[in-house]
Amino acid sequence: MIIMKFGGTSLEDASAIANACEIIKSRLGRQPAVVLSAAAGITNALIRCAELAAQGKRSEAETILRDRIIERHYRIIANLIKGLREQDMLIRQFKLYDEELRSLIYGISITGDLSPRVLDFVMSYGERMSTAIVTEALRERGVRAELLDARRCVVTNAQFGRAEPLFEPTRAACESIIRPRIEKGIIPVLQGFVGADEHHVTTTLGRGGSDFSAAIIGTVMHTDDIEIWTDVDGMLTADPNIVADALRIREMSFREASELAYFGAKVLHPSTLLPAIEKDIPVHILNSHRPQMDGTLIKRDITASDIAVKSISFKRAITILNITSTRMLGSYGFMKKIFDIFNEHQTSVDLVTTSEVSISLSIENAPALDELVAELRKYGELTILREKAIICIVGERLKSERGIASRVFSRLQDIPIDMISHGASEINLTFVIDEERVPEAVRELHEEFFSSISEPGIFE
Ligand code: ASP
Ligand code: MG
Repeated sequence: MIIMKFGGTSLEDASAIANACEIIKSRLGRQPAVVLSAAAGITNALIRCAELAAQGKRSEAETILRDRIIERHYRIIANLIKGLREQDMLIRQFKLYDEELRSLIYGISITGDLSPRVLDFVMSYGERMSTAIVTEALRERGVRAELLDARRCVVTNAQFGRAEPLFEPTRAACESIIRPRIEKGIIPVLQGFVGADEHHVTTTLGRGGSDFSAAIIGTVMHTDDIEIWTDVDGMLTADPNIVADALRIREMSFREASELAYFGAKVLHPSTLLPAIEKDIPVHILNSHRPQMDGTLIKRDITASDIAVKSISFKRAITILNITSTRMLGSYGFMKKIFDIFNEHQTSVDLVTTSEVSISLSIENAPALDELVAELRKYGELTILREKAIICIVGERLKSERGIASRVFSRLQDIPIDMISHGASEINLTFVIDEERVPEAVRELHEEFFSSISEPGIFE
């Protein structure tokens, strides 16, 4: 059994969906379960509707619902589904979705209340819509597809907007709902991104979370592979918008790929690999526009090579907080207090460096920064550096290869470095610079590490 997950751009219109269906058909022998995102742009449009409604702009919200969500799906249905009866059935289904969303908009607009719980429910329509259409398109192509409700399969906690999977109940649900269908030769089609808590209240796994859904289901069901179908050739040595001749990475370790996903590579949701690592399930990143290409394979044990640096990624919109206090000297418990504050404000810290009397932390730009800062000021002098970016160099051999850091920093000698982090057993070298210097730094480093590479086994 395998999981095939398709992202929004692979489902954005009738021809993209027809193409995805052909890819699914080419894998029928491997017993796929299909996990889908919403069509590209739909989740954003749903959020917009909800926000406008919360501001009391009900008719604007309804316009977006009609023009950018419902009409768009009607067009897909008209161009994709041949059978009139099937078209009719889908349109009736979408009329219901339309009515329900209108009621939600109305409810949100009169109460002015848009809780994360309500927003999750609104967002869930995107994936419910795409899966309804794709299931029908597969059936028309002779595939025994069945639409399933991911809310019965993916059980999460009740942290709306960023729910975390509960693996045991999820495993039990997937085994009892998905497994029997696979065994009967049915192709289950499920919504990515969406789950439900233990009281069956709809939750979502955070933006971009469909990859995570694919990995959760693949892991609990112990599938042979997880395929993530997207619109790029795989993981690259750098962002192709910055480095035009970035190379495709054929093979990466779980650790390398997680670092990249976390530090900016947009191909994969950062949590995706965590469950797959545990069960050692290979994850493939594949391009739905070029299905014959083998993409990037992410697995535990990779082919040994002499390549130290595999990829360079970056994360923009970083803020650095420096706290200086002589109270830190020789005392204990200070760090704990600092981290407790981050914990209370649910702000996660990317990098930390410390000296005897100071601590520097990097965080993503956060809306609630003011309160966090006020708290931190109680513990020492605080300076805030904004508009920063993290650059991250990743490679399984970084830990053993000498001289990498000196190559990095001599290459970037004209660019001021704010923070550096490189742990003893780390496979990454991470540092912070001004946001505006990102393109220059990435290009320089790519030139440094990849200009003379000829390892066809690893890069292409
Ligand atoms: N549709 C959701 C989003 O746009 C989840 C996903 O596409 O992975 O964030
Ligand atoms: Mg995605």
